[in-house]
Amino acid sequence: LVELDRRHLVHPVSSFHGHEARGVRLLESAKGARVTDAQGHELIDGFAGLWCVNAGYGHESVVEAAAAQMRKLPYATGYFDLGTEAPIRLAAELADRSPGDLNHVYFALGGSDSVDSTIRFVRYYWHAKGQPERDQFISVESGYHGSSTLGAGLTALSAFHEGFGLPYPWQHKISSHYVYRNPIQGDQAIIDASVAELRAKIEAIGPERVAAFYLEPIQGSGGVLVPPKGWVKAMRAVCSDYGVLFVADEVITGFGRCGPLFACADEEIVPDLMTTAKGLTSGYAPMGAVFMTEHVYQTIAEGAGAKAVGHGFTYSGHPVSAAVALEVLKLYEGGLLENGVKMGQRLLAGLDGLRDHPLVGDVRGRGMLAAVELVTDKEKKTPLPAELQPATRLFDRAWEQGLIIRSFAQGIFGYAPPLCCTEEEIDMIVERTRRVLDLTLEDP
Ligand code: PMP
Repeated sequence: LVELDRRHLVHPVSSFHGHEARGVRLLESAKGARVTDAQGHELIDGFAGLWCVNAGYGHESVVEAAAAQMRKLPYATGYFDLGTEAPIRLAAELADRSPGDLNHVYFALGGSDSVDSTIRFVRYYWHAKGQPERDQFISVESGYHGSSTLGAGLTALSAFHEGFGLPYPWQHKISSHYVYRNPIQGDQAIIDASVAELRAKIEAIGPERVAAFYLEPIQGSGGVLVPPKGWVKAMRAVCSDYGVLFVADEVITGFGRCGPLFACADEEIVPDLMTTAKGLTSGYAPMGAVFMTEHVYQTIAEGAGAKAVGHGFTYSGHPVSAAVALEVLKLYEGGLLENGVKMGQRLLAGLDGLRDHPLVGDVRGRGMLAAVELVTDKEKKTPLPAELQPATRLFDRAWEQGLIIRSFAQGIFGYAPPLCCTEEEIDMIVERTRRVLDLTLEDP
């Protein structure tokens, strides 16, 4: 398999960055929060796959739901006014639980195309309002909004941009002032700086030109960056002031990752649009969901006569994914969300206990989403030199200790364990992290 992989399978990103030399790591099976590799070694999946298997592995009820749907009706399109039970029921259940009146749900296949869909919906909205000149978008530095073309421009990764004319000239960014090394410190000072910057950006573009502002309630791929409480609300207020649509990207933060079903509930705001994916199906099937408020949906619907609204995928609202999502929702509400909150507190407390380690500069997180940022000098917050600690080396070390984490290039360990973790498993994640840190101190 390793040889066949080398010869034929193109991996996302890594195939072009030394993957051939390292070779693939083969996973074989999983149960709960534990995965087993092809050599029979058991590891704790401290990253829930790719921040997605929130419910954990091996839930028979989900498997049964998928199989039953495949037997009955594996596919039905949502085009041409057609439909079937599972996606309709799922949309209704999600609308029931979403913040405010985000009552209308559009299904995509994952996070990137959910984000791309919102960009279209935002533009359709402004066309319908008779303000087509509102075509400028703003997002936040170090944010991630997917890798398909429209969303990739909102993503703050130059590797996703070069050679494609991205970001588009209509895509602007403001600083994420809540990064570890930001010169502005203190919650209120950070909120004030961001409010001022967003206002200035909107004014500079021209308030009548700005269509939407995008943010992640907590930035995931940027290195688990947690803004101060009140930051999201303050940004929402600026958007409301200017009539700019506010889009929350909850692809990572949704479905219990940060405690409640949606992080926006925690932030006490209702976005105009919201994207989700990952935990929606907990990785058992691909799916994304875009939520729209009553007002946004009705405006687009009423304006659709004036300008054609063309957007859709063959697999929008796939019945098998929808059946899976309905079952996964039952698991969240049958105790997993509650367990996630308890285990999240234990995880953060445990990681906080690593602050005394010479290599630990920062520990942060919310719910079952956390990060430990490594430094060589705590006072100066000196990052680990890139040549000393390539991300893959730390990842490999953790793997050898029986722990899967995400290791970001800057020397950040990211954690997003399944919500089904036991106390013992959370403690193992913390203990194994300490061992990785000790080994790294001894032999960088
Ligand atoms: N938005 C956010 C906030 C994400 O974290 C991601 C993926 N990590 C995406 C969008 C893209 O999702 P996908 O990889 O499912 O296309």
